[in-house]
Amino acid sequence: MKAKPIIYSSLLIIALALFSYKTDKKAPAPEKQQWAIVIHGGAGGMTRENLAPEVEKEYRASMLIALNKGKKILADGGSALDAVEQTIRTMEDNPLFNAGKGAVFTHDGRNELDAAIMDGSNLAAGAVAGVMDIKNPITAARRVMTNSPHVMLAGAGASQFAKEQGLEIVPPSYFYTEKRFKELQEILKNDKHGTVGCCALDINGNLAAGTSTGGMADKRYNRIGDSPIIGAGTYANNNTCAVSGTGHGEYFIRWTVAHDISALMEYKGLSLKEASDLVVNDKLVKAGGSGGVICVDKSGNISMPFNSSGMFRAYATADGKEGVFVYKDEEGRQ
Ligand code: ASP
Repeated sequence: MKAKPIIYSSLLIIALALFSYKTDKKAPAPEKQQWAIVIHGGAGGMTRENLAPEVEKEYRASMLIALNKGKKILADGGSALDAVEQTIRTMEDNPLFNAGKGAVFTHDGRNELDAAIMDGSNLAAGAVAGVMDIKNPITAARRVMTNSPHVMLAGAGASQFAKEQGLEIVPPSYFYTEKRFKELQEILKNDKHGTVGCCALDINGNLAAGTSTGGMADKRYNRIGDSPIIGAGTYANNNTCAVSGTGHGEYFIRWTVAHDISALMEYKGLSLKEASDLVVNDKLVKAGGSGGVICVDKSGNISMPFNSSGMFRAYATADGKEGVFVYKDEEGRQ
């Protein structure tokens, strides 16, 4: 009779030992440090029929150059913010994109540029709007974030600030490109898009988003689009995701597209894919707003939905996955 407690306690010890052995076995391996980057070069009416193969090739090559810039920064342990800024600078300097050098023309034949950047780790943000002489608006946006008490500076004040910061100032003629000027003359109603954007997750788990644009061709009266507006065309929050949009800005502003995606994840528990699809392919479609977004979440998942016929887009992740895409029928390969 007296042997029972001994038996029970021995059994208990064995059970506990087995349990701890099992839990030891199950202990998750230390998480692999991961990074992810996604970029866009604008959404629009491009199809296999209307985009010349050599132009398509040029876009794909330029996207890859930009992607590689950010990829290297992230793989070397650099910050998401650096990756976003440097990747976007590459695209701003490339006349192919509607940002920086290749900015589209306003109705009056000028170039007015908008850009924004956001740090998902602390919700800091900076933006410039309607600037005409700053070579790299994305860098000016970052300086507004880090070196001023403000979030957005516009027009002459933004230029003055950029000068004080020692950024490169160019004559407005720098943004003159024959192609964009002709485009304005012909008023190509169907191809007004071409903004650039980048979202990144770094190995420290920080998210960042940035967007830079010449806005919509033929725009008027110091019109400002969604790109420099935090929550509309640009948003990042370490708790959810980083988003950069491209499309008809007037819709992105009123439907607060970038923040809506983050909010759906935060408040409704939707995945990145569910949230971005709902906003771009349902809410925006019903509203009549064409365009798309690129986004990455805190786990490195990527989503690139668009409701136009094409969107220049590319991504890369630490596990070696990457791709550059233009058309709708490439969606399955992402
Ligand atoms: N969203 C930009 C704007 O409305 C244009 C674009 O993405 O093409 O200014």
